[in-house]
Amino acid sequence: MKDHDYDLFVIGAGSGGVRAARMAAAFGARVAVAEDRYLGGTCVNVGCVPKKLYVYAAEFGKAFKDARNFGWDSHTPGFDWATLRDNKKTEIARLNAIYDNLLAGVDAEVINGRARIVDAHTVAVGEQHFTAEKILIATGGWPHIPEFPGSENAISSNEVFDLERFPERLAIVGGGYIAVEFAGIFNGLGARVSQLYRGPLFLRGFDADIRAHAAQEIRKTGVDLRFEVNVQSITPRADGLHVQLTDGTTIAVDAVLYATGRKANLQGLGLENVRVNISDAGTIDVDDDFRSSEPSIFAIGDVTGGIELTPVALAEGMSFARRQFGGVEKAVDYDFIPTAVFCQPNIGTVGFTEDEARARFGRLRVFKSTFKPMKHTISGRDEKTFMKLIVDQASDRVVGAHMMGPDAGEIMQGIAIAMRAGATKALFDTTIGIHPTAAEEFVSMREASSED
Ligand code: FAD
Ligand code: NDP
Repeated sequence: MKDHDYDLFVIGAGSGGVRAARMAAAFGARVAVAEDRYLGGTCVNVGCVPKKLYVYAAEFGKAFKDARNFGWDSHTPGFDWATLRDNKKTEIARLNAIYDNLLAGVDAEVINGRARIVDAHTVAVGEQHFTAEKILIATGGWPHIPEFPGSENAISSNEVFDLERFPERLAIVGGGYIAVEFAGIFNGLGARVSQLYRGPLFLRGFDADIRAHAAQEIRKTGVDLRFEVNVQSITPRADGLHVQLTDGTTIAVDAVLYATGRKANLQGLGLENVRVNISDAGTIDVDDDFRSSEPSIFAIGDVTGGIELTPVALAEGMSFARRQFGGVEKAVDYDFIPTAVFCQPNIGTVGFTEDEARARFGRLRVFKSTFKPMKHTISGRDEKTFMKLIVDQASDRVVGAHMMGPDAGEIMQGIAIAMRAGATKALFDTTIGIHPTAAEEFVSMREASSED
């Protein structure tokens, strides 16, 4: 191993790359990490973290109104975009420095610049060449905006956080996580938001009842949510961007946010110099050890086309480091990964949708509950919580849990642990609730809404 400059050269200091680098270095490996943009990657700089900060900001708008019926003489104060944006920048700079310290603390060398693979054991950053026993590609993804007339006027999630001016009128294209979350953010901050989705119902891949409930609740918050429609062209005019839609209508807005998925970030990576297989979807093919078809080159996280979530990239980074440098053979367990969409209110979900569960287990018992959260009995806000449990009849195991309601993301983490432990519906039923909470409904649903 000592013939090379490093035991491990990581390309990309995002969620997965930093975790793998830190753990490998802690196991005693000589590690370098190349990063060309920002320490912490997508999640810290233009993803989870700034997004959640903006979600908090958005939720204040309605909270001021909610407070009135609780006796607070509250009026809704004005919102200043620059304050939020600049405070966000300060917090992200703090996190960047923490990542730098974490890597320095384990003696992993950070190399600033874009890395290009030269051969199976050599990476170039600018004019400098480095050799390594193993190379780990953790370059993540990049927003994909389809090409159409005027598409150069659209922005992606990379730009939306730092807009110079607050977009009073915003069109958002897409029906996945990012589109739904940003519709909630900008609607909450006071913009007029139109969300445009090409299919009959957004959030494809989520449980059908959650998708329908989400459409209903999001419309109630004031988002102009339109289905079966797409963008034909965008034309800049004096009064804003004119967005021509496939249904023949036009909307004038200040910005158009495209949230139409992400593609693996492989540009300029030099993969033509090695034997790394690329899938039809343009992601790096890896085996269970995260090894590509070039034996010394590995890949983890979004660049492999798996589940694009930070905790998944972290788990893969840890597993990679343990196996390659710690002598621990422990594969990542991808069963029952919980996830949340941070819209208003949140969606939290773990396990199978009803359709998936029916295809896999056959006979099911399904429990559903829709109710007004206690807070809104007085606030007057028209919002309903929805919860659903899907139970495999044969084993009584809870195989799907879905919720849209306040703090669904927080609630679902605990439910995921129970489900991974194999909890049955009987166990849910004998668990004593925490009163008064919304979460207690998950242990109080007695009557199946369907049984077949
Ligand atoms: P990344 O974090 O993307 O890191 C890749 C790094 O590699 C980047 O820093 C990049 O600059 C660098 N890089 C790329 N090419 C090179 C090169 N050639 N040389 C040097 N450096 C290079 N996930 C959640 O779990 N929860 C959320 O709430 C959530 N919200 C999100 C919100 C948004 C708007 C977005 C876009 C994503 C969100 N995600 C969320 C997804 C999450 O951010 C990603 O799944 C995660 O960051 C993937 O980690 P990664 O290590 O694979 O790549
Ligand atoms: P998603 O894949 O979730 O959604 C993309 C959306 O764009 C889909 O509704 C898709 O429609 C639509 N779409 C795709 N191509 C086109 C097109 N050419 N024209 C019009 N619409 C199109 O991607 P996102 O960009 O929202 O997010 C990327 C990933 O980042 C997510 O999948 C998620 O893994 C991660 N993320 C996680 C978050 C969290 O954990 N809270 C938050 C944000 C992102 P269709 O369904 O019809 O294909």
